[in-house]
Amino acid sequence: MFEEGARLKRERGADAIFDYSIGNPDMEPPAAVIDALRRVAAGERKGSHGYMPNPGYTEVRATVAKKLHRETGVDFTAEDIFMTVGSAGACNVILKSILDPGDEVIVLTPFFPEYQFYIANHGGRMVMVETDSEFLPDMERIRAAITPRTRALILNTPNNPTGRVYPESTLRDLEKLLLSVEQPILVISDEPYKSVVYDGGRQPEVASFISNTVICNSWSKSLGLSGERIGYLAISPKIAEAEQLRRACAFCNRILGFINAPAIWQWVLLETADEVIDAAPYEQRRNVLCSALETIGYDVRRPEGSFYIFLKTPIADDIAFVKLLAEQGVLAVPGTGFGRSGYIRLSLTIPLDRIEKSIGGFERAFVASSQPRK
Ligand code: PLP
Repeated sequence: MFEEGARLKRERGADAIFDYSIGNPDMEPPAAVIDALRRVAAGERKGSHGYMPNPGYTEVRATVAKKLHRETGVDFTAEDIFMTVGSAGACNVILKSILDPGDEVIVLTPFFPEYQFYIANHGGRMVMVETDSEFLPDMERIRAAITPRTRALILNTPNNPTGRVYPESTLRDLEKLLLSVEQPILVISDEPYKSVVYDGGRQPEVASFISNTVICNSWSKSLGLSGERIGYLAISPKIAEAEQLRRACAFCNRILGFINAPAIWQWVLLETADEVIDAAPYEQRRNVLCSALETIGYDVRRPEGSFYIFLKTPIADDIAFVKLLAEQGVLAVPGTGFGRSGYIRLSLTIPLDRIEKSIGGFERAFVASSQPRK
């Protein structure tokens, strides 16, 4: 998508292209983070550019554990935390640690497409389970998909692409379901959008409600650091085999090619782990775009968090509709890529004035979709 966007901008001029296709935060990191980065870069902490214990610096892990303890009420300690190369790195470390060839991982559709590759990387098999009509996990469908090979279920809330924030009741229902099945099933809670929730809401903590939780998180979205590749994996101490899992994760962090998370960003986060970007601009963009789309006649479900709108297309063929939008300079991703046709994903990572200028394109594509194609 990056390349297609760049090509169209070259061809038609950047002003004519409204790129809603990439989930790359467009807000700069908070000033406190950049100040800490300057201090760390100018500092003289000995050995701070060398290899380290593979799970990361103990002080940093302890800081993350304290924060998680405060947020979830679960007794996380430094031992449970593994500094990783983003949430993507964390997902790969835990999947590498638990999967044998042919083991199954349940993914709820629509889903972040990279999951299929992360699972395949480690010999696993992705089992797709449809969410319900409101894009919430459907317990009966999940139960029906569990087999003796099921090792884990990936949960992603706030959700990419749907923008749903799973409520406490959903997490409680899932815990009940998991306790009622024979084998232990791990919930891999991929939470990079945890701090992007609108309307004064909060994401209920998955680890507070589900015992078998491994958290994958990062500062990619919460601090606008997606290119810096810094995140963590946290193993809930409530997991019966937590000690074995910790040993496996320490080893797998080392052997997947990245060896450890970037040193400089660990030191920066030691000082700034509690900072967050202001989600208000995303909320304002959501409000403006959703209202405009509703006025045009689109069937809109307003996202509660993350920074995506998963929009029903006026025609069933989402790929054809993406082409109609592209003719108007509006770039979007077909829902088919997320396992749900008939939708497109719009990323709210473009400035408000650009959103306003793009509305005409959404309107013309909507009208064109109802005309017979020549
Ligand atoms: N999980 C989801 C659902 C995402 O949307 C993304 C990135 O867009 C990632 C994981 C990867 O995030 P990170 O930059 O923390 O590796």
